[in-house]
Amino acid sequence: MSANETVAYEVVPLTPIWTAGVKGCDRIHETAIIGSLRFWYETVIRALGGQACSPIDKDYHRSPRGKKCGLETTRTGDIEKLCPACRMFGCTGWSRKFFLRVKKEPQIQRITASTHHHKLKRTIKIPIGDFWGPLTVEFRFLKKCDPEERQILRFIWETLLAKYVGMGGKVAQGGGLFRVVNLKGKFIEADEEKANEELKDWVARACQAVNAQWNDPDFELNKALFREYSLEFSSQISSLLFHRNVCSNHEVQGESNIIDLWGRYGVLPIAHEIRRAIRGTFTNQAKRHHVFGSTDRNGDEASHVSVSHCFREGNSGREVHFRVAYFLDDGFGMTDVNAIEKNLLNKSRLEGFLNPKGKAGLIQNLGMISGKSRTGEDLLRDEL
Ligand SMILES: [Zn+2]
Ligand SMILES: [Zn+2]
Repeated sequence: MSANETVAYEVVPLTPIWTAGVKGCDRIHETAIIGSLRFWYETVIRALGGQACSPIDKDYHRSPRGKKCGLETTRTGDIEKLCPACRMFGCTGWSRKFFLRVKKEPQIQRITASTHHHKLKRTIKIPIGDFWGPLTVEFRFLKKCDPEERQILRFIWETLLAKYVGMGGKVAQGGGLFRVVNLKGKFIEADEEKANEELKDWVARACQAVNAQWNDPDFELNKALFREYSLEFSSQISSLLFHRNVCSNHEVQGESNIIDLWGRYGVLPIAHEIRRAIRGTFTNQAKRHHVFGSTDRNGDEASHVSVSHCFREGNSGREVHFRVAYFLDDGFGMTDVNAIEKNLLNKSRLEGFLNPKGKAGLIQNLGMISGKSRTGEDLLRDEL
């Protein structure tokens, strides 16, 4: 395939998309989408047995030379020394192989929710997210890529991001989910597609001249678990008044913009409440911080459990789905996931966080959709 070829995806956001800092932004910032792609590209390279350096690692920028990629010259042969992620996404002295832009700026709407601020002792508006309506994300390849590079990038975009984890910031807190509705162009030809074993060989070759040993990553795709849950309310969601309560003594009722969000986009932004319902699974604080992240500035990245907001499912007006990604490691195993899920599927527990002063019976059904439960290994084997 030649350079300058474009692949364009029309996508519909399922939950708010965050591409800038807490103050929001005027448009979708492509860098945030590229950041998501790069992050997962690294995890796939590692899952295939290779090495990749990680610019979001807090030690990366302080790393001595040799611990991260960079080119002093662009002599042939030097590029081989870059890790596969830097080769695709660029680093000092080497530019990214593809250009990404969001065409057709979507309709912008700032979604906020009221919450009680304990220290300020008053109700404040907190932003839930921006950007609604369909948008087009276009990839244009500027440099020659190996078919393997395109195959991995396609897997990350079409499978990991579009079907499981979402794009942009705050994905652990509910944002970033989208659905691909239309596609023009293709990343690779069918006859260029490689089996996993061949991709592993390619990764091994690509890492041959890569001499650095990078920090162990927090997230290993082959240890991830992706699940989707169905939440069915006993009455029409439009008739329910939701509120957020950071503190159970202060209740903020009747968020009109959240009702509006549901009516217009079929989004129910209750990831925060779902997280609260499962956070208490671990009474040990160190364990809880390891699994759910701490509330410090790096909390977003540190969470090993990613909970999406809810999005409309079917036409009943009572049912939504949400997704949870679990990133297992030595300190977070299947026993822990089962303990979390036990709380997650406890209807009265979630009801308590959605509506602490309300009546029981708000939720009719709450269950895991087994057909949509996949491990990272399943995805690598079946969809890469
Ligand atoms: Zn690198
Ligand atoms: Zn309070």
